[in-house]
Amino acid sequence: MKTAEIVSVGTELLMGQIADTNAQYIGQVFPELGIAHFYRQTVGDNLDRLTQSLKLALSRSDIVITIGGLGPTEDDITRDGIAAALDDPLIHDDQIAERLRKLFALRKFTWTESQNRQAQRPSCANPIDNPNGTASGLICQKNGKTIIAMPGPKGEFIPMVDGPVRHFLMELCGEEVLHSRLLRICGLGESVVEDRVRPLLNSTNPTIAPYAKPGEVHLRITARAANTELAEALIEPMETRIRSVLGDAIFGAGDTTLEYATLELLKARGLTVSVAESVTGGWIGQRMTSVPGASEVFKGGIISYTKEVKARELGVDPKLLDDPKIGPVSSEVAKQMAVGVRKAFDTDFGLSVTGNAGPTSDEGDKPVGLVYIGIAGPGRPTTEEFQFRGLREDIRYRAGQWALTALRRAILNLG
Ligand code: ATP
Ligand code: MG
Repeated sequence: MKTAEIVSVGTELLMGQIADTNAQYIGQVFPELGIAHFYRQTVGDNLDRLTQSLKLALSRSDIVITIGGLGPTEDDITRDGIAAALDDPLIHDDQIAERLRKLFALRKFTWTESQNRQAQRPSCANPIDNPNGTASGLICQKNGKTIIAMPGPKGEFIPMVDGPVRHFLMELCGEEVLHSRLLRICGLGESVVEDRVRPLLNSTNPTIAPYAKPGEVHLRITARAANTELAEALIEPMETRIRSVLGDAIFGAGDTTLEYATLELLKARGLTVSVAESVTGGWIGQRMTSVPGASEVFKGGIISYTKEVKARELGVDPKLLDDPKIGPVSSEVAKQMAVGVRKAFDTDFGLSVTGNAGPTSDEGDKPVGLVYIGIAGPGRPTTEEFQFRGLREDIRYRAGQWALTALRRAILNLG
């Protein structure tokens, strides 16, 4: 099995100004390709330190991936670092230069001499085409080792990984693949999910691993096989067994989001929904409308953050809102919000969320993290109480997740 190591280049990464999302992205690609990944480094824009890092990486890994530092400026030093670490001279590549000149003419950018830096490459390197930017990627092979250099901007990095680099790595390491499928679960805690699939957790090929996410649980089924099709064939019967114990708590697979799954369910049944949001501040509406075609089923919402708006726009009884024993964070108010928004928007479902996200408890003696979710639908309106933990953002996120989960459950319960 080949080993890979990432060297991320950039002082802004060290300073914590940006997160290394590119390393995270390619980190997920290695297991799919059956490449072992044991080390990862981050180094600033300094030629000596970069050279040292690359030498260290070459001493213990077959494949080194560098991220960033391929731009035209003086602090873009990755090309120089690779040349130094591989002891390979930098040469001027006429084809890269020609492509750059054309690109600049096309975009009517002024050509400066520093652009020529981007036409340099170690003599052993093959350029990787970059249709999304100026910096070419590089594949450098010398003494049985490989360095792949890619530009930092996400819009250039990700297409390069998913296209030519993935292809190259598959050819380089093509013995076995690791292929996986992610099942996404809502409405059940991690321990419940684990309990139900426990007899399957001993399986070695495919393996099953549960991951707890805020308001969701993910189950990853991973198979090792000679190719993707054979791996799929191992995954499929396992997925069937998992589905038989988790049923419709599985809302989707892969990248499917909870909002997408919920909207699809509404569409399939020809139902509409509106939302009355307090603690989530419009975030449920934002998520719903991020799904293309949402307007078929999502009519709109009201961000009823204050008591006044809850009463005026949703018809919540002011006496309940002012009652120190009940107040805005209560089951009664959640119910009236759901009923009110359903009526105001004339939808099949009205979904409401009210709660206290903290950091201080500003609703009398209601604890931070207390959230009520209300559903008004064709049957009697219902509410659910939750006590979430975490920071303000965690509480708001979980409130949104469980609201969507409650809506999904209510739709499924219609039969
Ligand atoms: P450019 O041609 O834009 O200078 P570059 O290849 O030299 O590209 P950098 O200068 O290192 O790359 O980074 C450019 C931008 O790309 C950064 O400001 C940042 O927004 C993004 N970026 C760089 N490295 C990473 C990373 N590891 N993860 C996510 N984003 C990154
Ligand atoms: Mg740069």
